[in-house]
Amino acid sequence: MLYYSTNHTAARATLREAVVRGLAEDRGLYMPEVIKQLPASFWDEIADLTFQEVAYRVADAFFGEDVSAEDLRRIVYDTLSFDTPLVRVEDNIYALELFHGPTLAFKDVGARFMARLLQYFIKADKRTNEAVNVLVATSGDTGSAVANGFLGVEGIHVYVLYPKGKVSPIQECQFTTLGRNITAVEVDGVFDDCQRLVKSAFMDADLNAHMRLTSANSINVARFLPQAFYYFWAYAQLRKARVVGGLSSDSNLTAADSNLVVAVPSGNFGNICSALFGHVMGLPITRFIAANNANDVFYNYLQTGIYTPQPSLPTIANAMDVGDPSNFARILDLYSREDVQQRLNQRGISQPLPSLGGVMGGSFIYGATYSDEQIADTMRDCYARTAYVLDPHGACGYRALKEQLQQGEVGIFLETAHPAKFKNTVDNILHLDLPIPEKLQAFMRGQKQSIPLSNKFDDFKAFLLSQ
Ligand SMILES: *Cc1c(COP(=O)(O)O)cnc(C)c1O
Repeated sequence: MLYYSTNHTAARATLREAVVRGLAEDRGLYMPEVIKQLPASFWDEIADLTFQEVAYRVADAFFGEDVSAEDLRRIVYDTLSFDTPLVRVEDNIYALELFHGPTLAFKDVGARFMARLLQYFIKADKRTNEAVNVLVATSGDTGSAVANGFLGVEGIHVYVLYPKGKVSPIQECQFTTLGRNITAVEVDGVFDDCQRLVKSAFMDADLNAHMRLTSANSINVARFLPQAFYYFWAYAQLRKARVVGGLSSDSNLTAADSNLVVAVPSGNFGNICSALFGHVMGLPITRFIAANNANDVFYNYLQTGIYTPQPSLPTIANAMDVGDPSNFARILDLYSREDVQQRLNQRGISQPLPSLGGVMGGSFIYGATYSDEQIADTMRDCYARTAYVLDPHGACGYRALKEQLQQGEVGIFLETAHPAKFKNTVDNILHLDLPIPEKLQAFMRGQKQSIPLSNKFDDFKAFLLSQ
């Protein structure tokens, strides 16, 4: 399968090229040329399959032309060494808990998959056994997911750049204590400096001659598409529990309506975008809600049809503090495709997004935006009534369902991180002393190792050249 760029000027790329490059040469995001529909037999069987098998069938639709079945199955099964259970919070509202992986956040899924796929391509490349070096800049969560996803993966070395003193101690220990093929670089500067150093390194001729460099940022197709796996698994779990009925295979398989509403706490919109791909592949979801904190660029776009990027605002749901979501271009591109429009038309969805300059079109994608006070109130209210501890990100999704779910609908919101990752915030709001899960404690017991550097590119370059 080939991948095109959302800017439509770069040449089409193979999966391998798209994964190694991350971003297309014209700075667009890669999109698969074909989005396969899953066969009727899959929908007949889904309630009897394991998470790993459901994920493998979805992965086969994305990557089956480019990776052998045996290798793809191994990559998927290795990636999903943990569950993403659907937990009933109250009545018709369920949490899809994505925090049971190594770093207790949903980014583990994409990062683990990408590490294994990259390793597969390196091994398959007989011309060279030279190591690949992954550079990643982080403000906290991405670094830990990528570092742990790649930990111990042969042939790959990861350099995590993070701003000194600007990452919480719990986050910092998750990528500075690992050792092995992970090097933490502590930059005397802010996150933007880290990102600039990484970008400059990719463009530097001397460095590229010295070592093979690649990026693992969240727009990479190998991190982004695998996130669709757990939406299918959420649906499978509802089918197993008979909360929603099956799709009848003789009708158009997408016509059956499960009355399922999915609320996704969103920042760069990668997570929700992978769900939208799942929907195009046939996942019976009635509508989506993109739940935002005070960073309301997408919400305003849905109201007005006008997209106006803003500087990001700091909030207590800080992994969603994004003022110009990078996957917005993917969402626009997805719904401008003729193949996608045709399929959605068959399902009675004529206008998934507001036309530019138009008024709110959405009977399909909705928005929500919440202040820190509203997030905190929601956490307190949910805890008091149900004893379920929401993290500040999941709280946005939960509240969106509470406000927007209609009679007879079933709502799923994504719990994108374990509340203990934001222990100070959650303890203060709920007056709790949340226990720290053993997985996090293990990181905290480790020895911190980092390379201190200035924010000057010359220093970073000299360091990489010495490696
Ligand atoms: C990254 C992240 C998000 C935002 O996900 P996007 O794919 O960028 O929309 C939400 N919650 C948590 C905890 C995250 O780490």
